[in-house]
Amino acid sequence: MNIYDFTLDELEKYLIENGFKKYNATQIIEWIYEHKVYDFNNMTNLSKKLISFCVENLQIKDLNIVKVEKSPLANKYLLELNDHNKIECVLMNHDYGYSLCVSSQVGCNMGCSFCESGRLKKVRDLTLGELVGQVICVSKYENIRIDSIVVMGIGEPFDNFNNIKRFISVVTNNKMINIGQRHLTISTCGLVPKIYEFADMETGVNLAISLHAPNNEIRDRIMKVNHAYKIEEVMKALDYYISKTNRRVTIEYIMLAGINDSDECAYELSKLINGKLMYVNLIPYNETSNFNMKRSNDFKIKSFYDILKSNNINVTIRKEMGGNLSAACGQLRASEEGSGKC
Ligand code: SF4
Repeated sequence: MNIYDFTLDELEKYLIENGFKKYNATQIIEWIYEHKVYDFNNMTNLSKKLISFCVENLQIKDLNIVKVEKSPLANKYLLELNDHNKIECVLMNHDYGYSLCVSSQVGCNMGCSFCESGRLKKVRDLTLGELVGQVICVSKYENIRIDSIVVMGIGEPFDNFNNIKRFISVVTNNKMINIGQRHLTISTCGLVPKIYEFADMETGVNLAISLHAPNNEIRDRIMKVNHAYKIEEVMKALDYYISKTNRRVTIEYIMLAGINDSDECAYELSKLINGKLMYVNLIPYNETSNFNMKRSNDFKIKSFYDILKSNNINVTIRKEMGGNLSAACGQLRASEEGSGKC
């Protein structure tokens, strides 16, 4: 088994079950995550018996980086999994540090009509080791510390909820990846029951919602998930999340020409979220040859932004980091075989 497939609790339990002590798990984890020692034989404070047990039963195995595309603001990594499926992650170099956008599934079943990722149906969920592996292999390859993580890559994270919960535990554990809860963001297209479950975890982890429309009529057209969970239900779940966590929710809104970018849409969106602890991230759409949808022009985006502002909505226009890499929203797709990003 790969060591990255364990949370600390799980490794403790595993070692105890095999006749070792609870603290042995912390020793091993510290060697790997803190001291960057990736060979059990070099973990000098472990007993001989424990070293041979680890060598026989555990691996410290990285994901295989197949391809890297670099640009000044973002790098894209194509990674190969053990079963030869491929995923991607994107490293963004912000003025506040390095942020890694990780994938949660191979493919995605949510079928959002503007999204490259949804063109490849879900093959399977990523394991914990594959979620963690994205962070480990990019940190190692670039020799950097990653400062924040967004789970917004290929797949719907809440459709892989159990592993995302375990990933949160590994990322935020100060003996493991050690990134504060407030520097971790999970993005969902709106799986309402999971929003409630996530809220009940009462973590400080951020939540982002891919809303992309101010009403059900438009959302039904561009996001299949809206057939299952209407906007009113999503907003109710978000109210619950805010009441439990007092954390601000990010509303992601891709600007699609002639679809969701009218002044009326801006007024409707303002009304929908007015007075709520939310802020809107307007995302210029990255056109691809696979869809007919067009990006709203800059004038429309500015006008939409101004209307939200004038209605006292917190709003930003997302800086484009990876457009020239096909690494931006909905475009993260491996040309070799096809995979993508929210
Ligand atoms: S936008 Fe996100 S949820 Fe929708 S199809 Fe793409 S990856 Fe899946």
